[in-house]
Amino acid sequence: MECLLRQEDGGSDLEASEMFTRRTMHELGALVLERVLNADEPPGLVRCPFGHEAVLVDQRRKRVTTVLGVIQLKRGYYYCEPCEKGMLPRDAQLDIVSTSFSLGVRKMMGWMGGKESFAEAGADLTLMAGIKVKTKSVERVAEGIGAQLEELGQSERTQAMAENVVPLKSTPKFYVSLDGTGVPVIKRETAGRRGKGENGEARTREAKLGCVFKQTTTDEKGRPQRDEASTTYVGAIEPAAEFGWRIYGEAERRGLRRAQKVIVIGDGAQWIWNLADEHFPGAVQIVDLYHAREHLADLSKFIYGPATPKGLRWSSERMAQLDEGDIASVLKNMRRLRPAGVKAKEELRKTINYFKHNRERMRYREFRQQGLFVGSGVVEAGCRTVIGRRLKQSGMYWSVRGANDIIALRCIQLSGRWEEIWEMRAAS
Ligand SMILES: [Zn+2]
Repeated sequence: MECLLRQEDGGSDLEASEMFTRRTMHELGALVLERVLNADEPPGLVRCPFGHEAVLVDQRRKRVTTVLGVIQLKRGYYYCEPCEKGMLPRDAQLDIVSTSFSLGVRKMMGWMGGKESFAEAGADLTLMAGIKVKTKSVERVAEGIGAQLEELGQSERTQAMAENVVPLKSTPKFYVSLDGTGVPVIKRETAGRRGKGENGEARTREAKLGCVFKQTTTDEKGRPQRDEASTTYVGAIEPAAEFGWRIYGEAERRGLRRAQKVIVIGDGAQWIWNLADEHFPGAVQIVDLYHAREHLADLSKFIYGPATPKGLRWSSERMAQLDEGDIASVLKNMRRLRPAGVKAKEELRKTINYFKHNRERMRYREFRQQGLFVGSGVVEAGCRTVIGRRLKQSGMYWSVRGANDIIALRCIQLSGRWEEIWEMRAAS
């Protein structure tokens, strides 16, 4: 080791030395691990899952990549006569059935594969942990873990809905916020679907994201404060009806039943309000203020042209009324408009409908007095972090299944529940 730490000129190359030492320690560790795992002779007889006696045939080797490097595992191969089936019980015991990666390595692949592209994850694993894995393996393992986490999440939510688990601490304000965002998918996932691409073809599928968060206080100016670390996410590319149960289950898990006030926030999308009516009856429904403002700004552009003094004045006056929740005045002023042209007329009609339809969800003055959030910023940021940052990078095209696996994984990661769910996985 001495010679290693010194270069010819008498200086030392710390980087080369530390990397060399780590590699050596890992190799040594892998040898020890291999010895320990292979130390015991396999028993001559084991029971098959149906209780028959299965006989040891021979010992078989398997290469397993562990956090210390590749080891050669020796384990007994058994044969059950009545079942006419061979089996390797040690693989189940070590949790390496039909995989050549140890659980420790798979955990790292899942964690990294959730955070960044599979290629980047592979490169990071090599640099940080000295583990060499193929990009395709990271993809397969990370998606497999995502699928498992999804299953665990499902059963957790089902249990929360079925049981009468009432959390001890009640929440003054319990928010459920929903949004959708397009995920670029491979061609076969959009066959026959209409969309915004060339020839009216869809290029994306909508991932629905829901978040639950809590609010106990407001700041000195009366602005709502989100409880720290209280936000959790669920999401998937799936029909609204299925997603409704997903977000409802999550809300139950988070203590919906002990909420003093439930608030649902979203943009104007109809599916959101349908779900709110179905699963959260009695909740305060709020349309995101900034979406509503955008509708006013867009309409003003249509009627008066972009950035005209008249248009700007009109929209700022309407926005002031909107902020006050005075939708009656907003509508009155809109109905006075006399746009020229078919397109502007159509835009006006649509905007009037939007405000008419959502007026109860736009009582912003009242909401503000109650110290409530009036924006869907939390779920929109969630769409960017949970979905956009990982699934919408340039050149990425997903299968719905692969996307859903990674969305499930990221929801767990960004809800700060990775270790917790990982423990559940081990227990199940
Ligand atoms: Zn058997």
